[in-house]
Amino acid sequence: MNFTVIEASTVINAISLLAVPTLWRYPSIFFHECGHALAAIAVGSRVRRFAVGEGEVLWRARIGGVETLVGLVPSSGMVGIEWVRCSRLKFLFVILAGPAANALLAYVAFRLLWATELGVLLFMLLIFEAFTICINLAPRTVSIDGVGYPSDGLLLLAAFKARKDG
Ligand SMILES: [Zn+2]
Repeated sequence: MNFTVIEASTVINAISLLAVPTLWRYPSIFFHECGHALAAIAVGSRVRRFAVGEGEVLWRARIGGVETLVGLVPSSGMVGIEWVRCSRLKFLFVILAGPAANALLAYVAFRLLWATELGVLLFMLLIFEAFTICINLAPRTVSIDGVGYPSDGLLLLAAFKARKDG
């Protein structure tokens, strides 16, 4: 009797075609919002709200003084920041830190692409991180718990407009 040996990497690659666009959405947004949150803390501001997902709230908790939310739609998120001595440079740094976190993940996936057997998985991650960056840089309003927040793209536009006006 002949058995076909299917390697684990082949199975993981096949599953990742479906798993990355579905299961990786929340982790990708989580990394993105962590980028904003860590940058905000680094410039001496305070994080008051941390949301992953949009729309209706599925889960809510207060973790270390931060109101933490998980929204129904895994398309975006938000970090509510209490700014302390905010300058334009600090503001831009914190806004760009979100997309930069996704870019870092995409870079790691790209570097490992040909070095491992998990080419399809890593390629899907690379595409997905690029997709998350595009979604966040699109100027739009993100709605969580019935409250609208500007996306990174909208905040960047506002920052550049303020620079032109001021
Ligand atoms: Zn963002």
